[in-house]
Amino acid sequence: MATFKDFRNSVKPNWCPGCGDFSVQAAIQRAAANVGLEPENLAVVSGIGCSGRISGYINAYGVHGIHGRALPIAQGLKMANRELTVIASGGDGDGFAIGMSHTIHAIRRNMDITYIVMDNQIYGLTKGQTSPRSAEGFVTKSTPKGSIEPSMKPLELALAAGATFVAQTMSSDLKGMTSLIEQGLKHKGFSLINVFSPCVTFNKVNTYDWFKEHVKNLSDIEGYDPHNRIAAMRVLMETEGLVNGLIYQNTERQSYESMVKGFKEEGLVKQDLTIEEAKFQQL
Ligand code: SF4
Ligand code: MG
Repeated sequence: MATFKDFRNSVKPNWCPGCGDFSVQAAIQRAAANVGLEPENLAVVSGIGCSGRISGYINAYGVHGIHGRALPIAQGLKMANRELTVIASGGDGDGFAIGMSHTIHAIRRNMDITYIVMDNQIYGLTKGQTSPRSAEGFVTKSTPKGSIEPSMKPLELALAAGATFVAQTMSSDLKGMTSLIEQGLKHKGFSLINVFSPCVTFNKVNTYDWFKEHVKNLSDIEGYDPHNRIAAMRVLMETEGLVNGLIYQNTERQSYESMVKGFKEEGLVKQDLTIEEAKFQQL
């Protein structure tokens, strides 16, 4: 049985020392091992940005895709081989700016994919510009007088779009993050996991300490029920989205791929077909 070390390849990450993305990678490896996956059962698809490099550091199938397009690639992969466990990943700029339309429709579609967003509330790879997740008043090179836009509320949007699994965690909480990724991997539908993953180089506001101070643990709210969509929306609105834990899960809805007719349940690759025969079957 694979351990978390089996999901690590020999490529040295070139993230800045202290970047939150290191822990996200560690949590993905741990969660994959804990749910009993082998590297050949997993595919990690990423977009563009510092966090997009993650697919290159994990020992599994991987695609480092194009900006904002991790989800279309991940969905194509899942439809082609439904036995593969598919993780999509990227940053807040990737998923909530250029890729937002894909994100909303992937949530609505509910394909069995786990989407992990490394949310550092800034563009890191391009050296520090305001992202859709940056707060109003946030000062960067692109908004030197402070951003005049309110920040995007992706988890509220996800609930409105019909999400079946919404969670949020912090990269400094390795145990909690690993557990939520495990739950996301086991969920039979689309799982959105937003991770506060600080950019220690360019974001000097939303630091590890800032998140620790501002985030509310859902486990501290007595009687919180993650199956109640209205309660989930309320807690997000009341806390400005700064919560940690499983916010919402709906286990009633079927995943997209389980409802698509005309495809065999097993991936074509499992049927011992030549490429030509497989093409013929798809026609
Ligand atoms: Fe991480 Fe920021 Fe460095 Fe990018 S620039 S690797 S997000 S700390
Ligand atoms: Mg970012």
